[in-house]
Amino acid sequence: MESLLPVAERPRRPEWMKVRAPSKDGSYFDVQKLVHGLSLHTICEEARCPNISECWGRGTATFQILGDTCTRACRYCYVHSGKPDAPPDPLEPLRLAQAAAQMQLKHVVVTSVDRDDVPDRGAGHYAATIRALKAKLPEASVEVLTPDFLGVEEEALQTVLAARPEVFNHNIETVRRLHARMRGAKASYDGALWLLRRAKEIASYAEPLYPVLTKSGIIVGLGETNDEIVETMRDLRANGVDVVTIGQYLQPSSKHAPIDRWVHPDEFRWLREQGEALGFGSVFSGPLVRSSYRADEQKHAVLAARPAKPASPGG
Ligand code: SF4
Repeated sequence: MESLLPVAERPRRPEWMKVRAPSKDGSYFDVQKLVHGLSLHTICEEARCPNISECWGRGTATFQILGDTCTRACRYCYVHSGKPDAPPDPLEPLRLAQAAAQMQLKHVVVTSVDRDDVPDRGAGHYAATIRALKAKLPEASVEVLTPDFLGVEEEALQTVLAARPEVFNHNIETVRRLHARMRGAKASYDGALWLLRRAKEIASYAEPLYPVLTKSGIIVGLGETNDEIVETMRDLRANGVDVVTIGQYLQPSSKHAPIDRWVHPDEFRWLREQGEALGFGSVFSGPLVRSSYRADEQKHAVLAARPAKPASPGG
């Protein structure tokens, strides 16, 4: 339901949500030049991420593969949606690996638009990208933040995990009650949980040993309660998820879902404590946290905290 409040009466952006403008110092413009020069897309730009100055200033970015047009239209997402006018570009994985090498990334994060128009939903393109990265940057770890691979979930997971990304991320995005309203009829809350659980199961059968980390993200301020967020974290833990991120929703345009509330930093701290009590290896919870925000640190945090026996589905 759209906000009935006139624009002037809608909640104003609080102090803690203010971000700095890009500075000419640091790596920001180097990253921009490299990414644009190689005709790559980043979710940082496509989703108008508020952290872009900080992340690009640190010389990092999150690549978006499979083009710039998403076949879904989630109510909170700024990425362009529609009917893609081209199949996936087979040379994109090589260009991406070249960019990651030039940026000297130690942890590469790759996400994509949904490609419901492609028979394998883009899974083969993910695998090609992971392989290109591992060939070019053998020391780097790779994190994929995938779509739900609707209708070909099992085959797609087998394809992606055969390329052995170190982190498999799939965002649950919102609580069970709001899921269909925010994500549309195609997406499923239980389907997202299944994907995360199954990814870990598939990796657990792999030879040699492949202890993949699984990760998911929740955006808050869409109309959920804090108790529902904790319930969602409980569901993620019950499906073996190692890392959770929680961040504030920002309404990208008047056509998108309105912001229901600004979650206070103290509430983010409380949510982090709840997540830690549930047993996640790492909980990144804060107003400007995004799934890929400081993803290298999220990975290190969970590895440092990891028990001798990795989390398993159901535990
Ligand atoms: S948080 Fe993620 S999407 Fe946002 S700028 Fe940083 S790397 Fe890009």
